[in-house]
Amino acid sequence: MPAQQIIRIPILPFNMVNAHLIRSEAGSILVDTGIPGSERKIERVLSRHGLSFKDIKLIVVTHAHTDHAGSAATVRELSGAPILAHQDDVDFYTRKIPMTYCTTGWAGRIFVKTPVPHEPYQGFQPDILLKNADATSLEEFGVDGVIRHTAGHTPGSIAIELATKDAMVGDLIASGILIGGIAFNSRAMRPPFEDDPQTVARELQRLVRAGAERFHMGHGGPLGAAEVLRHARLLSTMTPGPCMSPGCEHPSH
Ligand SMILES: [Zn+2]
Ligand SMILES: [Zn+2]
Repeated sequence: MPAQQIIRIPILPFNMVNAHLIRSEAGSILVDTGIPGSERKIERVLSRHGLSFKDIKLIVVTHAHTDHAGSAATVRELSGAPILAHQDDVDFYTRKIPMTYCTTGWAGRIFVKTPVPHEPYQGFQPDILLKNADATSLEEFGVDGVIRHTAGHTPGSIAIELATKDAMVGDLIASGILIGGIAFNSRAMRPPFEDDPQTVARELQRLVRAGAERFHMGHGGPLGAAEVLRHARLLSTMTPGPCMSPGCEHPSH
């Protein structure tokens, strides 16, 4: 298998929102697509590396929040690449039901009152649906790694584990002041929304046990395994916060 390279695609400055490209000689995988209207930013990073949309063999959407799924339908049109996502977020992708936001602190509580997280993105039906927790190989798309269900942030969140010991984890973990930002990018923190911290903790610990050494995230990062484990230990003592939108599956809130 040829060497692989991870290219960060800044959707907003200061690591506030990232997408990533896994580049290999046999093909490239786009991991997340940014907020709606991010396609030109993605294209600029591709062209800086001598690539175009046609080099994308697969679009992986880690979960249904608008800052990750927002430009997926457009990038699919431009690239012709299929979208891979998990069944448990599919009703959000197709816009059948509104996204649930379980806030983790003051930033999330303020954020959820703004129009940003509720901004409708162009709905889509994923072409490849993961339906269970089994690891799926990415070899047919030219990348040496697997993709697997990692619930906890949203019901259908997924993460990629590469043979290079890199993990692409979406919003399973975040870092930096105000998710990304100009400081503390090496310090883990919770994203503004998170369904179930204890499930997230178990998934992060499993990823480290499976050999992941570098974590690449939607906000902030990257982080090393020791910092991820420190954060997971903290999460394992927490209970879910209040969920502030319809469709919440935590009746206790
Ligand atoms: Zn998210
Ligand atoms: Zn996010």
